[in-house]
Amino acid sequence: MQAAQGYPTFALSSLKKIGMQSVFQQYGNWSWLLVLLVHFVRYTLIAGIAFFVWYVWKRPERMPRKIQPRLPKLSDYGREVLYSFGTAVVFMLVTLLIYQTGFKKYTLGYRNWSDYGTAYGIFSFVALVFFHDAYFYWTHRAMHHPKLFKIMHLVHHKSTNPSPWAAYAFHPLEAIVEAGVIPLAILFIPLHIYTIMAFLLFMIVYNVYGHLGWELFPAHSNRHPVLRWFNTSVSHNQHHQFFTGNYGLYFRFWDEWMHTTRADYDRQFDRITEKNIGYSTNAGNQNTASPIQR
Ligand SMILES: [Zn+2]
Ligand SMILES: [Zn+2]
Repeated sequence: MQAAQGYPTFALSSLKKIGMQSVFQQYGNWSWLLVLLVHFVRYTLIAGIAFFVWYVWKRPERMPRKIQPRLPKLSDYGREVLYSFGTAVVFMLVTLLIYQTGFKKYTLGYRNWSDYGTAYGIFSFVALVFFHDAYFYWTHRAMHHPKLFKIMHLVHHKSTNPSPWAAYAFHPLEAIVEAGVIPLAILFIPLHIYTIMAFLLFMIVYNVYGHLGWELFPAHSNRHPVLRWFNTSVSHNQHHQFFTGNYGLYFRFWDEWMHTTRADYDRQFDRITEKNIGYSTNAGNQNTASPIQR
């Protein structure tokens, strides 16, 4: 039956099956717009604050510690923002899927916070972070398969010197994968909307930090027994610059366990975080004195 239909007809009938179309009919223009605004504002606010603080305010003073001692081009910012807005649209669609379609009855989402209490609320937040960390690592590695990379992940890797605006700069297909963590998690973990909102805030903050271009963890934390397990901006910046290794998101467990930590990670972390990191802010010397050779 579906073979005879064009893609739009098939897509529409699929939407009808999961009830998405009825959502749009029932709530008119407003529910999706509200959800979109929440995702959009969350991204713009967090990335915007980071961009202002590190890329505008006191930038000359901060430049000696920049991970890659040059700034992205204006066109890079534009591409990152454009694709991130697309990601906000995908996040909006997935949010509507979870809460306003027939999918809802398969989930373990709950309405009353008191049903599970605050201790569980905190536990489920932490569980969600670890769940997402594993989900991200393995989907990320899958998207580095040559057959998937060009279609899904190349857009994100166009930012070889990422800025905070790259936090959500995904091809729509990758955005679906990234957004997929919540509908998957809520099938197994009872989650309140507040927990999900706190998680989404944590996710954008950590994502912006990962793409910041500056390291915030102090020197030697890569050798600290606890801090060494947290993923760092240096780590993700290296992933963007060199394309291989350092696939993790919040933690470095999976990279360590799967032996995908870059061999030069500790050396670069030390060089960036130690006071005399060995290159000048002088524009003429920036390329030759880069701490990370291109
Ligand atoms: Zn990647
Ligand atoms: Zn990235």
